Amino acid sequence: MIFKENLLKDQVAIVTGGGTGIGEIISTELAKHGADVVITSRDPEHHKDIVTRIEKLGRRAMAMPADVRQPDQIQGVVDRAMSEFGRIDILVNNAAGNFVCSMEQLTFNGWKAVIDIVLNGTYVTSKAVFPVMREQGHGNIVNIGATYMWMAAPYVGHSGAAKAGVLNMTRTLAVEWARYGIRVNIVSPGPIEETEGVRRLVDEAGMRERVVSHIPLNRLGRREEIAWAILYLLSPAAAYITGNNLVVDGGAWLNAHHYGLGE
Ligand code: NAP
Repeated sequence: MIFKENLLKDQVAIVTGGGTGIGEIISTELAKHGADVVITSRDPEHHKDIVTRIEKLGRRAMAMPADVRQPDQIQGVVDRAMSEFGRIDILVNNAAGNFVCSMEQLTFNGWKAVIDIVLNGTYVTSKAVFPVMREQGHGNIVNIGATYMWMAAPYVGHSGAAKAGVLNMTRTLAVEWARYGIRVNIVSPGPIEETEGVRRLVDEAGMRERVVSHIPLNRLGRREEIAWAILYLLSPAAAYITGNNLVVDGGAWLNAHHYGLGE
């Protein structure tokens, strides 16, 4: 346990993409620290284990299939969360889509698909929880960025552009919604172990040694380390922090020009 067990006691969180990869660990870490968790993503197969695991931690969990690109479906999740749990304190906008492709090869459909999930999806879910959080007079939104969102993003330019949009939206919402007691921040991971995208990069493409050798802390990140950064932003210790970008990458972006990923 990295923080006090009751850090988020009886708070209710929605985690998009909360059944796989980093999202799965975000969901369980929030539950370990006292939150009830609503998980949503498209595929119900991604929800089975996570609900059971959260319930075993003694917290309530609910999973509901929905696509972040569809405002009606996301509204359905918010309505159901409210009828089951009666409040929404936390939203973690973790859902994303990505694939490796040069801008030269990228089709307009590929570009639109990623912008739609990452940028429009973050807009849709944030807008859907907003009336609830405004009414409550408090709320905490954490978006998930990526370190390539403020640099060139060779071979993931679609994702880089979408995440850059999320960074800007984070700052705008932080300013506009502060008056309602809603804080909005963004956590930006570097390459994280036990995720499908990174497995493909470091294992299948044989890039592990090369990538790790340019990370000052000399290893890939762990999924828990992203969840812990989120927990910090949700905690009272971060009560005066909004519109911030918390980078969790072992110092990698400071060294990014050495990656040579675009060579
Ligand atoms: P992941 O395993 O690919 O998870 C993506 C999640 O998003 C899945 O649960 C997926 O579930 C959900 N999702 C995709 N499209 C959706 C849609 N249209 N509507 C609702 N849910 C949707 O990703 P990850 O590697 O864990 O990454 C998690 C977050 O960290 C992402 O925001 C990613 O950009 C960011 N990040 C990751 C890394 C890394 O090293 N892995 C580095 C930097 C940033 P369904 O298929 O069931 O919809």
